[in-house]
Amino acid sequence: MTFELEKLPYSYDALEPVIDEETVKIHHDKHHQAYVNNFNKALEGTGFEEKTVEEILSNLDKIADEKRNAVKNHGGGHYNHSLYWEIMTPGGSKEPIGNLKKAIEEAFGSFEEFKTQFEQKGKTQFGSGWASLVKKDGKLSVVNNLNQDSPISDGYVVILNNDVWEHAYYLKYQNKRADYLTEWWKLVNWDIAEQRFNS
Ligand code: MN
Repeated sequence: MTFELEKLPYSYDALEPVIDEETVKIHHDKHHQAYVNNFNKALEGTGFEEKTVEEILSNLDKIADEKRNAVKNHGGGHYNHSLYWEIMTPGGSKEPIGNLKKAIEEAFGSFEEFKTQFEQKGKTQFGSGWASLVKKDGKLSVVNNLNQDSPISDGYVVILNNDVWEHAYYLKYQNKRADYLTEWWKLVNWDIAEQRFNS
């Protein structure tokens, strides 16, 4: 299959004022599009052309050495960004709901403590990468990953993620990554997060 960039489920300016229109436009139409294009190129000749992105990222050890890095970087870039766009919304529940709410309180003590630990993962990711809420064996934790490495390559299910590459926030927040991380909670789509947790 050839991977394609999905349209955003909202307009470019829908995430204002937390994320400005220009950032969303460049991030989706240029950065994410480039990951999709390069992922398709990287997959040629690997024997994994018909697999899903989840299957591919869960089996990187089976990709030929000379192709593995490109598949990991661009496949991870496609996967991580698809989830990032999905997990944000201009509306929706403002706090965790249902089973995920209970699981967050069980794992972290409270929603506030979870947010603190998640932001800490984002702040302390040196250079470019991601902070993610993940699940393994039914248990929640927060992790950070370098570049476009995806937690699913480590056997996790990703419930939500935040992009801490400078291209995600620099136009509006400049060097203030911590402010972006704090503001970003206003956008999280907890209805989708709950669905992902239950699936
Ligand atoms: Mn990005």
